[in-house]
Amino acid sequence: MLYGKRDSITKEYDVIIIGSGLAGLTAANKLAKQGRSVLLLEAHNKLGGFATWFRRNNEHVFDVSLHGFPVGMIKTCKKYWNKEIAGAIEQVQKVRFINPQFDLETDFTKEHYSKILVEHFKLSPEAVSGFFTALEQMNFYDDQSMTNGQLFQKFFPDRNDVVRFLLEPIVYANGSTLEDPAISYGIVFSNFMSKGVYIFKGGTDKLISMMKEELIANGVDIKLHSLVEQVELVDGVVAGVRLNGQLIRSRAVLSNSHLHNTIFKLAKPEKFSSEFIEQARKVRPNTSSCQVFMGLKLGETLPEMGDLIFYSEDREFNTDLILSPKVGSQTFSIYYPDMRPDRPPYYAVVSSSNARYEYYKGLSEEQYLAQKKYNEEKALSVFEKLVPGFRDKVDVIDSSTPLTVERYTHHTNGASFGTKFEGLPLSMNMHKEIPGLFHAGSVGIIMSGWLGAANYGVIQSHEVDNYLDRLTKNQSEESNVQL
Ligand SMILES: Cc1cc2nc3c(=O)[nH]c(=O)nc-3n(C[C@H](O)[C@H](O)[C@H](O)COP(=O)(O)OP(=O)(O)OC[C@H]3O[C@@H](n4cnc5c(N)ncnc54)[C@H](O)[C@@H]3O)c2cc1C
Repeated sequence: MLYGKRDSITKEYDVIIIGSGLAGLTAANKLAKQGRSVLLLEAHNKLGGFATWFRRNNEHVFDVSLHGFPVGMIKTCKKYWNKEIAGAIEQVQKVRFINPQFDLETDFTKEHYSKILVEHFKLSPEAVSGFFTALEQMNFYDDQSMTNGQLFQKFFPDRNDVVRFLLEPIVYANGSTLEDPAISYGIVFSNFMSKGVYIFKGGTDKLISMMKEELIANGVDIKLHSLVEQVELVDGVVAGVRLNGQLIRSRAVLSNSHLHNTIFKLAKPEKFSSEFIEQARKVRPNTSSCQVFMGLKLGETLPEMGDLIFYSEDREFNTDLILSPKVGSQTFSIYYPDMRPDRPPYYAVVSSSNARYEYYKGLSEEQYLAQKKYNEEKALSVFEKLVPGFRDKVDVIDSSTPLTVERYTHHTNGASFGTKFEGLPLSMNMHKEIPGLFHAGSVGIIMSGWLGAANYGVIQSHEVDNYLDRLTKNQSEESNVQL
């Protein structure tokens, strides 16, 4: 059931889920299907978290994070959602790179990547297959001290162009840098390489409305406009959450809020052990993003030019340049009318670039508006090089920054991909510190992105389910003893 904005909640639940990103949504659906009573609380006025969209002039619809995900999303949606959702996932045909080092097109599969690495980059087939074998053998439980930089240096020494070809798309997919553990790159890149890049045909609005229908059909209670203030404990054990000052009772809580928010704001540091808090303070939030959304006038068209273009003017690939406010590097997603066949045939182009929250937070209002204007102008002028006359085709332009991300998702530092790798064990083990409190959502780089977040929701919902079973067993044993 969908609660109205002013409805008060009087029921008690097995589990309350704070936040409706793909991890929160998937966990809610799975737990409800298993017969648990679930309340999903979302601060925003719609479900989805980063999996979101917005309208301009009532005509243009823009997708925020629907640029591409690995094939595994089909299986996840079939198993934990339904076959209609899974059936709308389709492969992206063309991914293009344009930068001072190369101009290449690929379907983003291992076979085609290997061919390009050998034929274009003139690498030995042995080095290429050795690299892919090393990635496939990467295991989450292996030694995680090797960085991405060291991995590339081992297989393709001093080949910045090869590093760019292999790493740049993953920088956009999960915020990986050369300094991050190679495992965080290896797992995500291998996922993509298995069968290329996929997208949900119909747009994020359709996906989320299908998910909402399924949640309600499975008995999940949903309340939007609900910024949870606190996780409530009784004798150190989860007892519910506080919303608008009111206690809503539950036996477990699964937080899909940012890891830092969950520990330092929702649960409060004094409730955890000092070792856990010491580790939590060392966890680095991931970097953030800027986007420019450009909607074309009705009747204006674009040539068929692929769905994703990794465009850069930076002479070399390097983490600082990727994050620079000069926006030398950006990814263009091109949305053709067949994305939303039920609507008038609008085209849209979205530019995404990685960015540092600290830079945007430090700007005065005037500087902030000037930087936004710069980002918009940069996206327009670069796309004009790809499609001469593009500027005149554009009807609507808008942009977002790390401060926009912070405002809409409440993520610490407007992080687009949760936390760096060190956040993962804290997220996974939170329930060992506070019985009944679980965390799921973008964390540790691996668990981010649409697929990573949805799968992490599944993993953590198992933990919640086991915990609820144990609670029931303990309670029935206690009542037997009393008898
Ligand atoms: C610009 C951009 C482009 C991206 N592109 C892609 C892409 O092409 N492919 C891909 O796979 N991934 C992409 N991603 C990443 C992907 O969208 C995210 O990793 C994923 O959707 C995150 O899901 P999540 O479950 O971690 O939750 P989030 O999406 O982070 O949602 C968390 C939710 O919790 C809510 N919340 C937080 N605190 C509270 C509270 N106290 N009370 C109530 N609600 C609360 C927030 O409002 C939010 O709705 C992109 C991300 C960005 C920023």
